[in-house]
Amino acid sequence: HSGDERAALIPRYVRINTTMGTPAEVLESLVSRGFVLSGPFSSKKGFAKDSHVPNLLLFDPNVSFQDDPLYKSGKIILQDKASCFPALVLSPPAADSSVIIDATAAPGNKTSHLSALMENKGKLYAFERDRKRFSTLKMMLSKAGCSNVSPINADFLTTDPNDPQFSAVTHILLDPSCSGSGIVNRLDYLLEAESEDDTVKDDRLDKLAAFQLMMIKHAMRFPNVKRIVYSTCSIHATENERVVRNALNSDEAKAGPFQLAPRSEVLPTWPRRGYGEEMESPEQADSVIRCLPGEDATNGFFVSCFIKGSHAPPTKR
Ligand code: SAM
Repeated sequence: HSGDERAALIPRYVRINTTMGTPAEVLESLVSRGFVLSGPFSSKKGFAKDSHVPNLLLFDPNVSFQDDPLYKSGKIILQDKASCFPALVLSPPAADSSVIIDATAAPGNKTSHLSALMENKGKLYAFERDRKRFSTLKMMLSKAGCSNVSPINADFLTTDPNDPQFSAVTHILLDPSCSGSGIVNRLDYLLEAESEDDTVKDDRLDKLAAFQLMMIKHAMRFPNVKRIVYSTCSIHATENERVVRNALNSDEAKAGPFQLAPRSEVLPTWPRRGYGEEMESPEQADSVIRCLPGEDATNGFFVSCFIKGSHAPPTKR
């Protein structure tokens, strides 16, 4: 399959932004305009509810929502299924006392998802170091009605974990820059990149992996953090399982101590898990999620979750 063909096999995913509208209201609006809950590939107007992500809908890939009133009013957000996993796995509490961080936020799809899961309560600090992407983030947050978010135009790595402002932070989402090798409409570009000198490619991935590891270790230094989700849209073990392994072996993880959350807390019904040969035990591999482009009707993706505590995790289901 070419990248375009693979992209055509992926439904158009639409997340209902429960901050701006109820699922009932959105469904009613869709049905009133001729959409039918008959499955995404039954006809151009057919759609379905996703089986893993609450409030996610699947449509025919050729349907465009750019001019749709629901999109313009922020009631729906166009977001690939796999990229809905990190916020779900982080599962921030919906309470006035909740304080969490999205360390790498722009353009803000996961930030608005986190905000919706928190029912717009508590406080969500959203870091973005790039100035242009930061203004996109702010626009997107205001369109999505996320009033519990404080966007911060700064490098997450330069923030002091012991700053009293962040002392109550318990949950951190890390979705840092990666090679993007899982993004389906980039597969053609990737095939070209394959012909790139292998040492150049390895060097680039190693640099990304070193940065990703630094981000996880920095997150582990926040004194009250108890749950950290690390995700990428890469298909390379160098940026995924190997980064997680190195993070688990770091001084920061030992000090926590941090370990991987068990499968029961990381979308247990999603069948595709981490690469066993890249991890220290089958349980570790089972604790993390992979999505493969062309296989899972999503982009390529990876999700892992670190939890603080020395107690053995509850046994699997
Ligand atoms: N989570 C976003 C979403 O779902 O819409 C996508 C995040 S994108 C993969 C990574 C972002 O992190 C980029 O916008 C990049 O500029 C930003 N970034 C990279 N390093 C950073 C750092 N040290 N501190 C803050 N932001 C950073």
